[in-house]
Amino acid sequence: MIIILKKGTSSAQVENLKALLKSKNITPNVSEGQLETVIGCVGDIAHIDPGLIEAMDGVEKVQRIQEPYKAANRKFHPEDTVVDCSGVKIGGGAFAVIAGPCSVESEEQLVGIARSVKAAGASMLRGGAFKPRTSPYAFQGLGAEGLRLLALAKKETGLPIVTELMDFRDIELFNDVDVIQIGARNMQNFNLLKEVGSYTKKPILLKRGMSATLQELLMSAEYIMASGNPNVILCERGIRTFETALRNTLDLGVVTLLHRLSHLPVVVDPSHATGHAYMVDSVSVAASAIGADGLIIEVHNDPQHAKCDGAQSQTPEMFASTMRRIARVREAISQG
Ligand code: PEP
Ligand code: MN
Repeated sequence: MIIILKKGTSSAQVENLKALLKSKNITPNVSEGQLETVIGCVGDIAHIDPGLIEAMDGVEKVQRIQEPYKAANRKFHPEDTVVDCSGVKIGGGAFAVIAGPCSVESEEQLVGIARSVKAAGASMLRGGAFKPRTSPYAFQGLGAEGLRLLALAKKETGLPIVTELMDFRDIELFNDVDVIQIGARNMQNFNLLKEVGSYTKKPILLKRGMSATLQELLMSAEYIMASGNPNVILCERGIRTFETALRNTLDLGVVTLLHRLSHLPVVVDPSHATGHAYMVDSVSVAASAIGADGLIIEVHNDPQHAKCDGAQSQTPEMFASTMRRIARVREAISQG
């Protein structure tokens, strides 16, 4: 429910309303915009009679809203959120490219890739140390050693690091990590979301679950935010549909819709969305053109021998070319 206040409502009237809402176990979030002031109500509003509130001094209108997400909702936070990833900003016009291998394999591999993606203009380094693999017999990641190598690559290049947390018991190993990724398979691991949200204010890159609706994605963001961490970056990486021609089905229109529904930054993962290295360039260009706040791209120095996701990994040369094309697209769209 949101309460729209009349222009010129006094602060005493606002306080009065807030006290009434609190007495009904509702948390009021006052948001003062240029044109109007609104109070977002969080809590069980089922027992509240909107007519009663509408009758109060200073109230223009009461609207029941459908969306169950509040903290992530643009209605209560009209400005774009800009998430600061150890100095790299993302959202609200700030665009960032995260690049690196699917999984960390060795020091030579990771530091080499980190240097080349940095030279091409990437602003953060990705690399999985704990890998969610469909098969228990597949490479599961280097674990703690992978995190040590990521920290080393960060020291060598200055690039903030992004890596996936699968199990909260590993969180103490993540001290040097700048952005914590919650992968598609854990998007609705609600305990993990609550734990990570209450433990840290580090940015969380939240990937859309393979069969998740946008509302479910936003509710997962809400879990993290309601637990105390407002720094959530949404990631569209394609979903599973009846179409099996590509690894996943990517609807770039959701970037525009998520921007309408939420103030959180939205990045696109063209690698997992398509599953094919040859498609990553065109999809990255399209995602940049539609207004994504960033991209997360898999890059490998030797894709044919990658331990994970080689088929969708760009070589450093392909990545450099994509970065040049993205820069031109961004330049063109900035001119309106
Ligand atoms: C990944 O980023 O390597 C990954 C496993 O992604 P997703 O969770 O989107 O499948
Ligand atoms: Mn991968």
